[in-house]
Amino acid sequence: MRSSLNDRGSGRVVAAFVLPVVLALGATPVLASPAPPALSGGEVVPDRQPSTTQDGVALLRVVVPDQAAVDRLNALGVDLAEYRKAVDDGIEVHAVLSPQEARELRGQGFDVRDAVPGQAAFAANQAERRTAMSAAVTAAQQNDTLTPLRAEWFTSTDDRRFLSVEVKSSATDAETVLTATWDSGRGTPPDSGGTATLSRFTDAGQYMYHRFDYPLPVTQAPSRVTIKSSRGGSVTVPVTKWLGERRTPPGGHYVSDFVDHYMDPTEVTGRITALAAEFPRITQIIDLPYKTNGYRRAAQAQFGTGAASTFYVTSTAYGSQGGNDVSLALTRPEAASSPLTVTVTGKDVVVGLATDASGAISSTARQVVDALNANTAASALLTAATYRGDQGGGLVAAAPATRLTDGLKAPRSVSREPFQMKALRVGTKRGGPKVGVFLYCQEHAREWVTPLVCVETAERLLRNYAHDPRTRRIVDDLDIFILPTSNPDGAHYSFYDYNMQRKNMTNHCPAKAADPASRNSWGVDLNRNFSVGSMFDGYLGASSDCTSGVFAGPSELSEPEDRNQVWLTRKYPNIKFAMNTHSYGGYFMWPPGSYKEAGRETLPRIDLGTENYFWESSRHILSAVQERRGTAIWPGRTGPVPDVLYSAAGNSADEHWYNRGIIGWDFEVGADLYDPATKRFQPVGFQPPFAEGHEEAMEFSSGQIAILEVARAYSGDRRRPGSELEVTGRTGTSATFTFTTDEPANVYYTLDGSRPTLNSPKLVAAGTREGAQRITVDRTTEVHWFSVDIAGNVERGYRPGGPGANYRRQRVEVRGDR
Ligand SMILES: [Zn+2]
Repeated sequence: MRSSLNDRGSGRVVAAFVLPVVLALGATPVLASPAPPALSGGEVVPDRQPSTTQDGVALLRVVVPDQAAVDRLNALGVDLAEYRKAVDDGIEVHAVLSPQEARELRGQGFDVRDAVPGQAAFAANQAERRTAMSAAVTAAQQNDTLTPLRAEWFTSTDDRRFLSVEVKSSATDAETVLTATWDSGRGTPPDSGGTATLSRFTDAGQYMYHRFDYPLPVTQAPSRVTIKSSRGGSVTVPVTKWLGERRTPPGGHYVSDFVDHYMDPTEVTGRITALAAEFPRITQIIDLPYKTNGYRRAAQAQFGTGAASTFYVTSTAYGSQGGNDVSLALTRPEAASSPLTVTVTGKDVVVGLATDASGAISSTARQVVDALNANTAASALLTAATYRGDQGGGLVAAAPATRLTDGLKAPRSVSREPFQMKALRVGTKRGGPKVGVFLYCQEHAREWVTPLVCVETAERLLRNYAHDPRTRRIVDDLDIFILPTSNPDGAHYSFYDYNMQRKNMTNHCPAKAADPASRNSWGVDLNRNFSVGSMFDGYLGASSDCTSGVFAGPSELSEPEDRNQVWLTRKYPNIKFAMNTHSYGGYFMWPPGSYKEAGRETLPRIDLGTENYFWESSRHILSAVQERRGTAIWPGRTGPVPDVLYSAAGNSADEHWYNRGIIGWDFEVGADLYDPATKRFQPVGFQPPFAEGHEEAMEFSSGQIAILEVARAYSGDRRRPGSELEVTGRTGTSATFTFTTDEPANVYYTLDGSRPTLNSPKLVAAGTREGAQRITVDRTTEVHWFSVDIAGNVERGYRPGGPGANYRRQRVEVRGDR
């Protein structure tokens, strides 16, 4: 979100982090410190310093009233964590902000609160407020209808029990108050469990449904919950169990737990290479064809104080390739009326500053910059620029010879050359027609737990293959591709230079944003640089500002890291499943991943049968995550990305799903931890203490293994789905029906007596997170239909494109219509 500075033509630099987008929205740009940052021991202090540094960035809670405000933060290019939580007074998101940025956001009216590891009050008194609001609603108002969406209980964290309820009211106004009351198990009084008010969830200004702000702790598992509306509506539904599906435990010799510290990309890549060497029969290393730009930067030095007198130079060669050997001195000649000169000896550049008739220095920053850039020998070594687009009218002071530096702090063991990304391929019969699964981690550099998840999965597959039958079946029946670090340069930078680095390292900024103090804001967000639903296509959640946390890059797929993903999924078209592992918050998500701001128009929604398949898969996968230490991923953090998080234009899961039909799922590891003392959930952040990071890696590696089990079941699925037509209501003049299926499947139907095909109407969801639609006919109708599951099995073996007539048929009678 650091942005280019706006030169107002007055020679004064306006250091505003706000983007042109903000200006276009009419927000007032905030004037910030016009002075360039102070030099510290010859080194320019970056605008954004590590979170571990005094005055560094911090992961701060920001509470906004609604999703529209989340979208606004997103559009501002604020460096948001992939985290969203409903709170009493709106939505809590987390942003990586420097003190300056936090001030500026507050100045724009955003409610920027404390740092994430701290204890925050979540407006616990809101229940009181709601009670008051409830009383204000008069009984005269008309009844509403309540549609239950989900009512579930689950265990999490030391077998504590929680209740989660989602209900939609036909009254969409803000005054409608819903209250849930539940029992304490079968046969107990209906109100014996407790009662609580639900919150109204709006998205892009639209009412979605009511739900609890976060899962409520309960002492006993409820069997039924009654939701009553202040408008008079009431509904009672059974509470089902979420997760905790009984899984067959692995054999007694199953080994796990192979990571014991955070690993940088060099180490991670070395680890999978060593694994491949140890298990050559069932693995293969795939060198991805596009090398990254590398952990390297040009060398720089900055001179002067005050924006008008400051300029900086950038080496033409990377620091590691000689840029760090270049030096620049600014000398003051003894004679009066001396001209401005540039002398180059080897890699040492000396500027002789001009003097006036009295012998005082008369060279401005602009003149020095122009002289350096015009000198052939000097410009072979470096380029010069004024500070953040300033006119550079201020006089320059003499300075001793200063060596340029790339500022990189990683040890020599981290290569300064373009990085060879490697994927580990695991499978007994690789290259056959086996279903492929692509597990990739660490698109975002600072998400340190995620490569551990991928490494742990690789270790478990290989070290259990010989003696664990379940692992053997997975490795025998699938073609698995594991890319443990998808952003190696950025991750090296996060480990050694700036821990909150999210993007890759490549600097696409023009001179006005390429000064040394901007260096922690460069790079491309690799999960915004893909080609589907991208910023370039008009979707929300990425920025064209090169210093934004969600910079989309100069064009779609400009970055080699992302081209490698596309290459891999094209080269191996048998890949059918992909899991993009991020942190934090504890999420399981699927496409669509982005929407346009106007009207919240998403990429095409996934159809009902496929969505049901994803929900069913999520139960299996998230039950596996839960086995480690009881962590439940909440129902409210499971689902399509825009329903549970926010728009992410140009992300990889959408690329894989919409361009190649690969089921593209996302994990956010690191579920909130429940604190029994405060009865609150607390977020874990990007780089938790290793003991916590280790647990997250173990949990989500189990989740990745469960994905492989899902993929294997898919590959072996020959079972045909079954379906039934169910009449749900009749009036004197119409009948209403829907279809049920005995496994997740899509239903295609006709009402005009014609033969159903894959082009016939498809049964859709009644609404977001709702079940199947109901179809109403006003005369007796012969319905024809068939169902087809995700693996392509068709009910009764019917061939929709063929001549057969073995589809399903049933007459729906309308009384009095003959
Ligand atoms: Zn991420």
